[in-house]
Amino acid sequence: MLTVIVTGLPGVGKTTVLEALKGVSEKNGVPVSVVNFGTIMSEILGRRGMALDRDEIRRQDVALQRKIQEEAAREISERRGSGILIVDTHMFVKTDCGLWPGLPMNVLSKLSPSLLVLIEAPPEEIANRRASDKGRRRDEASRALIERELNWSRFLAAACSVITGAPVKIVNNEAGRHLEAAEELFGIISKMVG
Ligand code: AMP
Ligand code: MG
Repeated sequence: MLTVIVTGLPGVGKTTVLEALKGVSEKNGVPVSVVNFGTIMSEILGRRGMALDRDEIRRQDVALQRKIQEEAAREISERRGSGILIVDTHMFVKTDCGLWPGLPMNVLSKLSPSLLVLIEAPPEEIANRRASDKGRRRDEASRALIERELNWSRFLAAACSVITGAPVKIVNNEAGRHLEAAEELFGIISKMVG
């Protein structure tokens, strides 16, 4: 069993890379399962009678988000089987009270990842994707703000790496190159499973 945490700023193309990764890994006979942390949080909230759009979760009280975050981490850890589990999530979440960690210590210890992945893309591409993603209520952002967010993600990745002992892999997802990003990621994962 191997858990890989994959993070990236909203609009970086994380979900697209992970869709491609599923295809690449199946083709190579090493299937992975991908779980989206936000989806699990939505399901938990739904069971509590709070049916929220995924882009409304970060606007709730941080105390509530913490509770649901912890529960989601527990649910995901219970789901782990014998294969490779990819957790699609965020290094931080922009709440009304500031930048809040997606992977605090209690979450990391439940997930116990073997690898931490940061998907990055050029700031102007992230800005464009946020602006054109009509299916989501993404926060818009300037290039300067996105650069600060990319930096903050790296700082948090360093902290997560020290806490877990897991390496951090930074994968570039430039426009039209999600397949290459997925192949790079698959290369590392297959090395880890040996
Ligand atoms: P996504 O579809 O990946 O953008 O995730 C949807 C929402 O789920 C995010 O905007 C957050 O509110 C929430 N979320 C995802 N991962 C985490 C996490 N690790 N901790 C707390 N909230 C999270
Ligand atoms: Mg996504």
